[in-house]
Amino acid sequence: MSEADFSQGAAYVRGAYLPIAQASIPMTDWGFLRSDATYDVVTVWEGSFFRLDAHLERFLRSCRRWRLDPGLDAVQITRVLCECVRRSGLREAYVEMICTRGQPPWGSRDPRQAINQFYAFAVPYVWIANAQQRERGLDLRISDVQRIPSASVDPTAKNYHWNDLTMGLLQALDDGGDTVVLVDGAGHVVEGPGFNVFCIRQGTVITPAQGMLEGITRRTVLEMAQSLGLPVQVRALPTEELRQADEIFLSSSGGGVLPVSRLDGRPVGDGRPGPLTRRLVDTYWAWHRDPAYSQPVDGLR
Ligand SMILES: *Cc1c(COP(=O)(O)O)cnc(C)c1O
Repeated sequence: MSEADFSQGAAYVRGAYLPIAQASIPMTDWGFLRSDATYDVVTVWEGSFFRLDAHLERFLRSCRRWRLDPGLDAVQITRVLCECVRRSGLREAYVEMICTRGQPPWGSRDPRQAINQFYAFAVPYVWIANAQQRERGLDLRISDVQRIPSASVDPTAKNYHWNDLTMGLLQALDDGGDTVVLVDGAGHVVEGPGFNVFCIRQGTVITPAQGMLEGITRRTVLEMAQSLGLPVQVRALPTEELRQADEIFLSSSGGGVLPVSRLDGRPVGDGRPGPLTRRLVDTYWAWHRDPAYSQPVDGLR
């Protein structure tokens, strides 16, 4: 018998490692039935995790926020993630850790009785924008869909309440755009499906303060801006102000800093990725070689 093929990715499910195509969760897990789960995504680049500690810290914080117990601590989770990557052999990987509610005993609807489950997987690196889009810049659409209010679902703890993001994305794609940013109830942009949004006006880097997930890539961008001597403003960002921006870009673990060259079909600046955006893209990748941020995946050859 040939050995299992992990080359498309490896998953950790109920204590076992499986090729990604064979990995599944029980249909009765509330993670599936109710989107009752949290997760985090860390990337591997050239064989090293990027900012693993920050992702683990956020994941464990999200778990506490949703009263989920993954049953593993940061060291144990790291071991599982390393083993997923090692089995896949991927030197550039998208690594997801998930904690679901699980299921309460039959007949009970008490979430406190559910046995929470931890899952993880490593698959080939995922880009929010393809190579051509990164070169040319994305056409971003401002949605009229409102992001779920923070008072209803805390956006700072990662969650799968993505219906608003998905409906907004479908509309943007139907309209010929590449991706979408959602708004709050007061006319500010907040975030898109899996990314934060930034603009640059007269050399100042601006990003929303509230109503969105505080991305680790967003944090990296703020740190890079500081080290490049660019002034930063973290505050509410009205849609009208975004329309007047010199440059716009997105930030996500799925590709880092991603330039936007059109907003609602109209050119941003001269309609090409802006010079400061390009500097941030270069700095983002250069920082992957900084041992302060990168940690080799144990056991990966
Ligand atoms: C994960 C995520 C982001 C980006 O976070 P990173 O840590 O930079 O990858 C932004 N918004 C939402 C809704 C997310 O789920």
